[in-house]
Amino acid sequence: MIIQMKKNSTKKEYEKIVKYLEEKKLEIKDASTDDIRVFGIIGDTLSIDPSDLYAFDGVKEVTRVSTPFKKASRSFKKKDTIVRLKDGIEVGGDQFVIMAGPCSVESEEQLRIIAKSVKKSGAHLLRGGAYKPRTSPYAFQGLEVEGLKLLKKIGDETGLAIVTEIPSPDLIPIFEEYVDLIQVGARNMQNFHLLKALGKCKTPILLKRGLSATIEEWLMAAEYIMAGGNENVILCERGIRTYEKYTRNTLDISSVLAVQELSHLPVIIDPSHAAGRWNMIEKLSLASLAVGASGLIVEVHHDPEHALSDGAQSLKLDKFTHLMEELKKVSDVLGKKIK
Ligand code: PEP
Ligand code: MN
Repeated sequence: MIIQMKKNSTKKEYEKIVKYLEEKKLEIKDASTDDIRVFGIIGDTLSIDPSDLYAFDGVKEVTRVSTPFKKASRSFKKKDTIVRLKDGIEVGGDQFVIMAGPCSVESEEQLRIIAKSVKKSGAHLLRGGAYKPRTSPYAFQGLEVEGLKLLKKIGDETGLAIVTEIPSPDLIPIFEEYVDLIQVGARNMQNFHLLKALGKCKTPILLKRGLSATIEEWLMAAEYIMAGGNENVILCERGIRTYEKYTRNTLDISSVLAVQELSHLPVIIDPSHAAGRWNMIEKLSLASLAVGASGLIVEVHHDPEHALSDGAQSLKLDKFTHLMEELKKVSDVLGKKIK
């Protein structure tokens, strides 16, 4: 961290901030010239919020030079993290992992039809919301525990691992029993109480990017989980809110490359919530594979017109099969494994 003092700042002001930092066991490296008083802070600066230092008189500018996250950082761990799920599924290696299923678990029959079909087409995990964070309190809220039990049952029947969203920390024990990958939804990315609790659990976490989160805020959310001891975190880019209205969100495809530079954690893409329209999903999925994402989470429904949530962005079963065929062709060219 580098601090530049104002031109008219006094020696007393400089000494006051230096004393404060030294009391925090940080080392000061002065780089002042005749005209300008500037110094670097060396040591464990993670506990300091740069903006707090503006409370000191005479401070002109505080600049961070290292990232505010550590465990999630590429400089802390050079090698890519591979998150291992059941049945040899590896996210972050050379396998392109496909998670597919309905937005919401609606019934046993619905889930079975979709799961059997996506499995046959080559999906690795079954997705489906049992607890639905809806914008309206009057919209379908999910089957809750019943939905979790159905996911487990159909997952066992079809040989698919399960990914589903957790709404609150009190449900962690039941999620650990029924779920292979616990999803933190975009709306909960900065629910720090939930993130801390997930840091204590053993099940891997799929951390979606918040609706308006910067990449740094997203990685700080991952840091919360990792700081608690759970280092099996997969990031998911699901589109962010911009001024554009044509698509539901704006898919920030370059965030995959940014995350790979800044972090060792795997990152996957959710083209469904990004675009909000089923007819864009295939091309965005191919782009996700090409850009180097570690996988996809895609919404699929056998009867999207009657889906209880997100029908407009759900692929029909045959469209998902086609998507898998197209992904296979591109993955062969890129040397990635789909199966
Ligand atoms: C979902 O995956 O069903 C979902 C609600 O996603 P997001 O949190 O990205 O909106
Ligand atoms: Mn959805």
